[in-house]
Amino acid sequence: MIVVNEVEARSLLTRTRVPAGDYVINPYIGCPHKCMYCYAEYMKHFTNHGEAWGDFLDVKRCDRAINMSRLRGKTVVLSSTTDAYNPFERKFEATRGILKQFIHTEVHVEIMTKSDLVLRDRDLFKEIPNIRIGVSLNTLDDGIRKQIEPGAPSIENRIKAIRTLHEEGFDTYIFLSPLFPGISDFREILDACKDSTRMFYFENLNLRDAYRPRVINYIRRHHTVLLPLYNEIYTGKNTGYWAMLEQQIADYCQEHKIRYKSYFYHEKIRKQ
Ligand code: SF4
Repeated sequence: MIVVNEVEARSLLTRTRVPAGDYVINPYIGCPHKCMYCYAEYMKHFTNHGEAWGDFLDVKRCDRAINMSRLRGKTVVLSSTTDAYNPFERKFEATRGILKQFIHTEVHVEIMTKSDLVLRDRDLFKEIPNIRIGVSLNTLDDGIRKQIEPGAPSIENRIKAIRTLHEEGFDTYIFLSPLFPGISDFREILDACKDSTRMFYFENLNLRDAYRPRVINYIRRHHTVLLPLYNEIYTGKNTGYWAMLEQQIADYCQEHKIRYKSYFYHEKIRKQ
């Protein structure tokens, strides 16, 4: 049971240090997709929510129009601490309302989601001159998806959605994120999706303190054989695995003429 409230927001825009954007808009606080590895759980502390992450959702309402002149030539990302196309967007249309403000502007809009609900807004995307749309996934195995992203749409639906957008001529990408050591098979995903998008991005799994025990317990219970590898990476701080994986991705993409960019260790990358 998810507790849903509508809340007044003084502003929707937040400056961001993520490499892909200048500003971010999160139309919601909370996220029903409930990903096991979600770093956004810290939002609970800012908003005094006692519920578990994924069990509450605040729908932001803001009367003030976004100041577009300030954003000319900038990149605005939707979203970083929620999924703008979570299932409640179907009812509340908070994201849709925000996107309408970007019609015929000179702002670059970057959408990243796990949901095929994104297809609903193709009519708006056509009216936003500079927009890019991506889906994130890290496995083709929907059984694993149900374990680590229990509230999110199926992998099949995400791939179908991005393929549809790609075939309709939108600028698209697939974000392989976060890559779970020994579980995420990047070659399998690229083989299945290479004709479904223009571009691929990659990001490794970072384990912060808040959710690290949850992920390690999951590995212990469901992928016991991988536990030594996770201990080596996350306790021993051995970066050799990631260096090897990044090289394998580079070689594979070069061999198969796949456009890609790595955001491994993106937390350490300063926006250039
Ligand atoms: S979709 Fe993104 S914001 Fe939502 S729970 Fe998953 S990682 Fe967190």
